Amino acid sequence: MVSRVIPVDPFDLTIFGGTGDLARRKILPGLFRRFRAGQIPEGSQIIGAARTDHTDAEFRDEVKTALEEFVDADKLDDNSVAGFLEMIRYVSIDAKGTKGWSELKEHIRDDHISAFYFSVAPSLFGDLAERLHSNGIADDSTRIVVEKPFGRDLESAKALNATLAEHFDETQIYRIDHYLGKETVQNLMALRFGNVLFEPLWNAQYVDHIQITVAETVGVGGRGEYYDKSGAMRDMVQNHLMQLLCLIAMEPPSQFEPDSVRDEKLKVIRALDPVAPDDIVRGQYEAGKNTDSYHADVEDDESRTESFIAMKLNISNWRWAGTPFYLRTGKRLKARQSEIAVVFKDAPHSIFGAEAGRHRNILTIRLQPNEGMTLGVTIKEPGPGGMRLIDVPLDMTFADALGADNDNVTEAYERLVMDVIRGNQTLFMRGDEVEAAWAWTDPIIERWQDKGDKPCAYDPGSAGPEESAMLLHRENRRWREIKA
Ligand code: NAD
Repeated sequence: MVSRVIPVDPFDLTIFGGTGDLARRKILPGLFRRFRAGQIPEGSQIIGAARTDHTDAEFRDEVKTALEEFVDADKLDDNSVAGFLEMIRYVSIDAKGTKGWSELKEHIRDDHISAFYFSVAPSLFGDLAERLHSNGIADDSTRIVVEKPFGRDLESAKALNATLAEHFDETQIYRIDHYLGKETVQNLMALRFGNVLFEPLWNAQYVDHIQITVAETVGVGGRGEYYDKSGAMRDMVQNHLMQLLCLIAMEPPSQFEPDSVRDEKLKVIRALDPVAPDDIVRGQYEAGKNTDSYHADVEDDESRTESFIAMKLNISNWRWAGTPFYLRTGKRLKARQSEIAVVFKDAPHSIFGAEAGRHRNILTIRLQPNEGMTLGVTIKEPGPGGMRLIDVPLDMTFADALGADNDNVTEAYERLVMDVIRGNQTLFMRGDEVEAAWAWTDPIIERWQDKGDKPCAYDPGSAGPEESAMLLHRENRRWREIKA
């Protein structure tokens, strides 16, 4: 397959928090892969800016170590690494003080695209935004990228939006949800709006229900303190699962253009019914053979924060009234797997009789592992012996179809950073979307807090608490198996 990598224009990208975990694991390795693919032109600069005192050379060493750790060894040729490191600069800066700002200003060139990645705690966003302006570094063409968590409720999200709005226009703000950068997620839009096959069936008349699963095998690990204040609802549902729900449920936008897409996503969130208490199951993992319990991980035996959540949602509009959406996400589950399954209704009449069994078309959109899509279709089992039906998958695993080595197969972060440089906000969340998602989430969390709701226990390595299975069993449905 021919690589079609289109270079961006030369840019200055400053990563505030350039020495942090996210920069080391995702942003810098992602930029390296884009450089190696020929997408980052000569003359671009990547400037790490963080609290630590470093020379350029010391930071380059750090970046090199990060690349060795997080980029596949066969992609780390000496020439590419040397070329990439040449673009790297470092400024020791204090987000809350005066140190480093004039040096940073000297690096930023007026005739280049200029973007600032806020890969630091959200409590510093306001300081960074203010100092970029007061030091004359930012102007109307500057772009800023902000990371999750974007608030912890509607009030704090509104406050963050207001702080950023004091210094930047909405068209300059790129709120990252890396789920939106996944190849499959964009392919979901291509599948729905680039083919005539699916859209006529994409509604309550033909779709029985939709399942969205984001399962992790890890526990809260070293993030216990942060996670315990947040929980699965804030950490995963309000942002990642909500974004997936929007893309699967939205009406066709008139164009693949930022505000057309984001307007349609917003309408989905606004059409969500409040969730009845019986339609939500919260869970907390127990200790396993070699793993600690959630309580031990967060060092609080009284914690009532959920590490698992399953819920049934209804979207009140013409397209979806009557088709439930089941969402679940959790830690320490059976396998690491993210997928969306569109389960179509039974054929209205079976001409093959009861012995042919029940067969349903299921479209599965896999986000990880092995990004791709599968459409289950029913066919006759080959051979003699009458009309026996089996379900077979029409499989499109991207790595197989496009070639795993192809430089077009990108990871979420690198795709999104390149979109920032291109000035394309389609895959970023708009401020009103984030606020609408919190407005829907807040009453659910408040209800748990008012009632002192206690999560159900579940075994590590399971599919979550038994009550989650019941959520579907009671309606004669079942969750798809969680498997890698
Ligand atoms: P980290 O603690 O590893 O790094 C923080 C960085 O901020 C460091 O480079 C530090 O030097 C810098 N910093 C702190 N105070 C500063 C100051 N006063 N002035 C200048 N620089 C300062 O954090 P991280 O894990 O890299 O996360 C960064 C952001 O990304 C956070 O908002 C986090 O919620 C978000 N995020 C992280 C991940 C992840 O996988 N690490 C995933 C999603 C979102």
